[in-house]
Amino acid sequence: MLKSDIGIIGLGVMGRSLAKNMLSKDFSVSAYNRWTEAEKDIVPNFLKDASDNAQGFTNLSKFVNSLQSPRKIILMVTAGAAVDAVVSELKPLLDSGDIIADGGNSHFKDTQRRVQELKENDIEFLGVGVSGGEQGALHGPCIMPGGKQEAYLQFQPILEAIAAKDNDGKPCVSWIGPDGSGHLVKTVHNGIEYAEMQLIADCYAILSPTHSNEEIAAIFIKWNKGDHKSYLLGITATILQKKEGDDYLIDKVLDKAGNKGTGSWTSQLAFQLGIPTPTINAAVTARYLSSKKEERMKLSKAIPGHAIDEVPSLEALAATYRACRILNHHQGFEVIRAASDAHNWNINLSELARIWTEGCIIKSQLMESFVDVFKNHTSILDDRTILRTILKSEKPFLYTLIYSLKYRLLNSCISESYNYYAFITTAQSSAHIIQAQRDEFGAHTYRRNDRPENESFTTNWTNNG
Ligand code: NDP
Repeated sequence: MLKSDIGIIGLGVMGRSLAKNMLSKDFSVSAYNRWTEAEKDIVPNFLKDASDNAQGFTNLSKFVNSLQSPRKIILMVTAGAAVDAVVSELKPLLDSGDIIADGGNSHFKDTQRRVQELKENDIEFLGVGVSGGEQGALHGPCIMPGGKQEAYLQFQPILEAIAAKDNDGKPCVSWIGPDGSGHLVKTVHNGIEYAEMQLIADCYAILSPTHSNEEIAAIFIKWNKGDHKSYLLGITATILQKKEGDDYLIDKVLDKAGNKGTGSWTSQLAFQLGIPTPTINAAVTARYLSSKKEERMKLSKAIPGHAIDEVPSLEALAATYRACRILNHHQGFEVIRAASDAHNWNINLSELARIWTEGCIIKSQLMESFVDVFKNHTSILDDRTILRTILKSEKPFLYTLIYSLKYRLLNSCISESYNYYAFITTAQSSAHIIQAQRDEFGAHTYRRNDRPENESFTTNWTNNG
């Protein structure tokens, strides 16, 4: 058998879909999955459905030998210890110049470490963010490769062939930058995704006491025909209409949200960089709060909710949702910009927005507008049209916030977005109080607004004499 163009390790949900996608584009693919008694059918099942261009292995050494040199191997295994385990098994089998690309949701710091560790063996390691879930992987994912550019070029023809295509037919894959940049942008992608999901959940929470599932679905379908259009809004409308017998399935889904950590990684990263991301943080916290089901049930009996005697304004909710989504994306892109500056990665935000317009979970009409915004500005809120949109939304935003507070309807991301909006548009904050307090109890010094910023002062605040 001829040697394969590329190898994939891990035939789970994503690995087998990516492999099938590559085979459908006429690349020859070697696939490996570890052998266990319980999973002995994984490789044979993959080969049963695959074209003649596929080879399957449960022996790593045979898998490696089936690949063309320099070998290109994509790992699609569980992020964390499994990646290290597979890499250490692979390392002695590879030759100088071979390239491993980790397509899982790895932490970018792990990727940085692995790049360094493999450098000693002259093996390149790429950290490749992949988005789009199973269907995306099968029919066209969005791909965010980071690492040495020369190594990426070896993968480029294959990744461009399998990636989703944007409105102009260009592939939704682009070299993000060196080092762990690909995995970093994938992490922030997921942070934005968390908040996009929670914002829809907030809208549902505000609507659901006064609207049926069908009515909410109809509202979301209408929104999805205009500038709110997004993949997540579309699937939510579909989800709300799904029936099980006479009942809506959504009403039977337990309200405890799971997570695999990438949302909280975004918040942690933002804190480390000193970038405020309250909308994203609120979405992460909302998932944790949701898991406190038993506690919530108990306390809701002691402190019941309020009777609702008015219907929310749909127009106001639509404007609120619009403003919150802009603020969410702004926060996420600011994290990426700060990380790029801190690491000298030079990430092109316009190009990143472009590859996020198709194939990924956060694709939307709004994302399409950011492609041009970042051609002219470094930050979303530098764009005057966007600022005007938010300003126009202020009154309805406030109305929605007050409505949800009045009836104690969950509004995690909406309220935090409003607070962010209020703070970021306030010239004189209350932080001078904080600075004076810090100086009073810890002599941390303060700067004055009537003196140059490089001068610092300390005062004995209790001595009035
Ligand atoms: P699955 O759980 O479906 O598959 C995981 C794969 O990893 C399996 O093939 C499993 O092998 C293999 N594996 C786990 N541990 C080891 C180990 N110690 N040694 C060797 N192989 C191991 O996961 P997914 O395909 O969903 O995800 C793969 C990666 O892609 C993850 O990092 C995930 O976060 C990321 N991802 C997932 C998306 C999704 O929508 N599912 C979207 C984007 C990224 P075995 O069958 O033997 O257990």
